[in-house]
Amino acid sequence: MDYKQYIEIVEDYPKEGISFKDITPLMNNGEAFKSAIDEIVQFAKEKKIDLVVGPEARGFIIGCPVSYALGVGFAPVRKEGKLPREVIKVDYGLEYGRNVLTIHKDAIKPGQRVLVTDDLLATGGTIEATIKLVEELGGIVVGCAFLVELSYLDGMDKLKGYDVLTLMSY
Ligand code: IMP
Repeated sequence: MDYKQYIEIVEDYPKEGISFKDITPLMNNGEAFKSAIDEIVQFAKEKKIDLVVGPEARGFIIGCPVSYALGVGFAPVRKEGKLPREVIKVDYGLEYGRNVLTIHKDAIKPGQRVLVTDDLLATGGTIEATIKLVEELGGIVVGCAFLVELSYLDGMDKLKGYDVLTLMSY
């Protein structure tokens, strides 16, 4: 399927110079959304996944239907202060400033095979931090799946050695 017809590009959002890829029209179209999720499920099926992990908020939108289709659990990665029980944290750099992501300490059992999902790979900072959390808990990242990759931001460089699926590239 030509998914790009469902991506709206918004120039200078959220700030000047950024070409934002809005995936909400794709989610809004049942046929396109189902097809995209089915492709990720197909990619994950061969990998014997035990768990799907995704960062807030759009990593949930992609990860949850995939985990449901595979019949495995989903563990959310959230910003600091949002998860109610004991967490581990990772601090990582953003274009401007820093961000902290957390996961519940008991969300992953050592040796579990994990698929990491997000809507979009830009610089790779978010996914790198998510992978760090998974691996710190003993999970094995057996795949990473995104709808969109912004190849000009070189996020793939942070995913060397991982099996990555992207459905669209800009
Ligand atoms: P990264 O950490 O630089 O790879 O940025 C990826 C994160 O920022 C993802 O969680 C995305 O949801 C979000 N993001 C960055 N750029 C865009 C965009 O153009 N469209 C939608 N989300 C974006």
